Amino acid sequence: MDLRFSKEDEAFRLEVRTFINENLPADIRERSRLGYAFRKEDTVAWQRILNKQGWAAYSWPVEYGGPGWTPTQRMIFQEEIMMGNAPEVLGFNITMIGPVLMHFATQEQKDYFLPRARNLDDWWCQGFSEPGAGSDLASLKTAAVRDGDDYVVNGQKIWTSTAHNADWCFVLVRTNPEARKRQEGISFLLVDMKTPGITVRPIISIDGSHHLNEVFFDDVRVPVENLVHQENKGWDVAKFLLGNERTGIARLGKSKERVNASIEMAHKVNANGRPLIDDAVFRQRVAQLQVDMKALEITQYRVVSAYDKAGGGRPDPLSSVLKVKGTELLQATTELAVDVAGPMATPIWARELAALNEPDDLLEASSASVGSYLFLRAASIYGGTNEIQKNILTKAVLGL
Ligand SMILES: Cc1cc2nc3c(=O)[nH]c(=O)nc-3n(C[C@H](O)[C@H](O)[C@H](O)COP(=O)(O)OP(=O)(O)OC[C@H]3O[C@@H](n4cnc5c(N)ncnc54)[C@H](O)[C@@H]3O)c2cc1C
Repeated sequence: MDLRFSKEDEAFRLEVRTFINENLPADIRERSRLGYAFRKEDTVAWQRILNKQGWAAYSWPVEYGGPGWTPTQRMIFQEEIMMGNAPEVLGFNITMIGPVLMHFATQEQKDYFLPRARNLDDWWCQGFSEPGAGSDLASLKTAAVRDGDDYVVNGQKIWTSTAHNADWCFVLVRTNPEARKRQEGISFLLVDMKTPGITVRPIISIDGSHHLNEVFFDDVRVPVENLVHQENKGWDVAKFLLGNERTGIARLGKSKERVNASIEMAHKVNANGRPLIDDAVFRQRVAQLQVDMKALEITQYRVVSAYDKAGGGRPDPLSSVLKVKGTELLQATTELAVDVAGPMATPIWARELAALNEPDDLLEASSASVGSYLFLRAASIYGGTNEIQKNILTKAVLGL
């Protein structure tokens, strides 16, 4: 791929866009257009529609029920999903546990879990972080002790996204506290969230939403057959999972969608007696964001193109640039949407303004924009903090 898409890729983009336009339920699209987060039922319904089309497991090879797309096609697919106001497929299922199972699991594990993950019959969550183990994940303490045909798990995870929705959790546990290196005593277990002894406690985030949880394990019995790979080799599995292709991490489609929504709002909002869209300072801010998005888009093409040429393999450390710049842009574009909304962004003012006959959709879009703005403050923390990404860049790219 050079700096333009091939005819085939352009045709592919049109095919995906048309499919989304024709098949995404209107109420799901509208909620997202207004800036609301997707609900569990939205994600499930849409992923099943995609699965019927053979697209849900968009990054999987054909032999496991994926479409066998190139990295460029995957990138186009993700961008169209986000720009089209469709729910993203559940990353825990498709880009995390799916590839792990394909790479490390037994045939029985693959046969059972992979089709269910694709169709979202099982909603997966990720039990890695603990109160004392985030960036320094290898210091995790949740322990699993072998007892007959089970492991008995005790400990606590934190920041477990969507654990309250989840049927299964992939969990890192310590199976050998005596190991010479901390990384050598860790195992990777598949845990049924209905197992007795598991308690999920909500953490309500600043946007008022329930996305995060603490998960407690008290004498939770996990059958040994739910171990992935070998005992004490879980660190290899975790590294594989976290290092998997990360070209979608910039979430550029979402930033573009937020800028488009802000421009649409700015036609309806007045500033100093004129539509905000005519304001020179506002136009300059939008232009700067668009330039930054274009620069990141080109970087993303470079990373994907290199990945395409290498035919897979190890991810490019440059994907850390995508994470850092992508999340900075997500934060800047959601901030733009809130600034355009001005006082309408706060529910109390929105009610007052409703009495003054501001259009309903404008008021709703304005107050909903605050939620994504607030939630995405966390984007520079989750998926490996931006400071850690910069550490990776200094070593792997700058060679310092
Ligand atoms: C919204 C959200 C969703 C999440 N979802 C999940 C999930 O589903 N499953 C899961 O397991 N975890 C999840 N996490 C946890 C996430 O992976 C951790 O928050 C992240 O890895 C940081 O770990 P920490 O919170 O312990 O912070 P710490 O590691 O304690 O870091 C605190 C600060 O110190 C900085 N810092 C730490 N080490 C270094 C260093 N070596 N050099 C420079 N700076 C450093 C960090 O950048 C950060 O600013 C989620 C987090 C958030 C915010």
